[in-house]
Formats: sequence, C-alpha cells, structure tokens
Amino acid sequence: MEANSGIPVQKPTCIGCGYSLLELTSDNCPECGRYFDRDDESTFRMAWQPAPRRRSAAPPSMWECVGLGVLTILGLLGASNAQPWNGPATCIGLVFGVPVWVGLAIQALWRAGVCWKDRARSDLDQSPLHKRHAGRWFVAPICFLVVVSAIITPWPLMLRFGLSRPAFEAAVRDVQSGKGGVNGRIGLYFVRRVTWNTTNPAGSTILFETGSDFFDPVGFMFDPVRDRTRTDIIQQLGPQWYTYID
Ligand SMILES: [Zn+2]
Repeated sequence: MEANSGIPVQKPTCIGCGYSLLELTSDNCPECGRYFDRDDESTFRMAWQPAPRRRSAAPPSMWECVGLGVLTILGLLGASNAQPWNGPATCIGLVFGVPVWVGLAIQALWRAGVCWKDRARSDLDQSPLHKRHAGRWFVAPICFLVVVSAIITPWPLMLRFGLSRPAFEAAVRDVQSGKGGVNGRIGLYFVRRVTWNTTNPAGSTILFETGSDFFDPVGFMFDPVRDRTRTDIIQQLGPQWYTYID
C-alpha cells in the first residue's frame, strides 16, 4: 500500500494525541500507537472538523472523577450533621447534587457505550490505550455505592459522632460538675450554643446546638434520664445521646 493512499490530503490527525497522520505507511500513530483505519474517517480526525465520537471512547476524565469525589464527600459531610432528612441540606443536595449526579452517570454510561463500539479498533492499538486510566471506571460506581449506603444507613453521622463522642462526654462532665458549657469545636463538630438546666446541672438534659434546620436549632442532646417520650428527638446515637430539633 502506498503512503497516504485512501486518506484525503487534508491533514488527518490522530484522535488520541493530535499527531499528523499524513503520509504514514503504518496504521498506528507513531506518537501514541493508536490504530486508525485509513478507509474509516471516524478513526482519525480531519482538520477543522469536530472530533469523531470515538474520541470519547476513554475512561471518565480526571475532572469527572474529581467532581464526583468532591460531590460525594460534600454529601457525606452533609449526612454527618445533626439534622433530619427533610432539612435544608437534603433539599440543596436534591436540587443541585442529583442533576449533576445523573449527568455524570449518563456521561459515564455513554462513554462505556462508545468504548464498546470502538473495541474492534482499540484492540489494534499498539500500546494498550483503552487500558490506560482503567481505574477511573470504578470511581462512579464506588461513589454511587457510598452515597446509597449513606442514604440507607446513617453511618456518616454515626462515624463522625463516634469519633467526637469522647470530646462531647468531656463537655458533659464539665457541665455536670458546674464548670459550665463552652461553645466552639467539640470533637469534629462546631457547637454554637450549649444549654442545660442550671438549677440541676448534674441531672439536666444538655443540648449542644450545631446548626439550624430552616428556622429550628438542631444538634446533639445528652439525656441522662433517657426520656424516650420527648418529641424533639430525631435519632438515637447511643444510650444517652440523640440528635434533636428544637
Ligand atoms: Zn496518536
């Protein structure tokens, strides 16, 4: 076969790296090893024309992975706060997070479909291009499973509170011994107000306010008498610990 036979003299370039494929005798890009079929215009790129769809036959980009990761971490942080599921954090998550999530998921599925269609060509790549960054395929499913697990069970809240619990219990001892409650960071939470019954600090319910749910303060409650009839309790975290909405 003669050099550049079949490829119009219109500056064909490699989809993978942009290297000029003009006057090549080989069917693989000398720069990156990507296979192209000189009789199939979808396997290379012509100057001034949009890149063929095969360009998307690659794992999700670094930015898609980083975006998903950041979104997942923000979701877990939101889920680890003391607040009910119908609160503002959930609303913000639904309004902004879900569309981005669905968009990225469709993007990943679409990429997977293009990869599938491109597999006959990519098998002829000299270097295993389609295997490069293969780990990125796992980012979206893992993030998805993590988010679903956080919806099914309150593990982010339990984990963050569990790590903060010694600090909260030290704060309880301070209140009970009459030293009073101190605002500020307690464990991994920021407490903006501590309230208790000052006439009976040792037997008092102690409220650690960490935020608000629209208008109502929310936070962590220490209840020494374990009064389960209280209506301000959202969720039990331990024998004497609850999340509350005031
Ligand atoms: Zn190339």
